[in-house]
Amino acid sequence: MMDCSEAIATMAPYLDRALSEAEIEEVRAHLSHCGCCGDAFRFEESILKFVRSGLKEEALPEGFEQRLQDLIRNCGD
Ligand SMILES: [Zn+2]
Repeated sequence: MMDCSEAIATMAPYLDRALSEAEIEEVRAHLSHCGCCGDAFRFEESILKFVRSGLKEEALPEGFEQRLQDLIRNCGD
């Protein structure tokens, strides 16, 4: 089972659509049972959609993963 740090590490490639189907399923399984990662993920996804609505092929925003780490700092397990 994926833990929070692994989930966070895969969020950037997940949002960048750089994961395999199996990896995507693992991330989704974690997000479905982990509230804090789910919240962090939805927050980042909404930002990314906003960013990409105006910029095609934009790279992930600078500091993306660090911000995710901050969001789940108080995450339980
Ligand atoms: Zn988690």
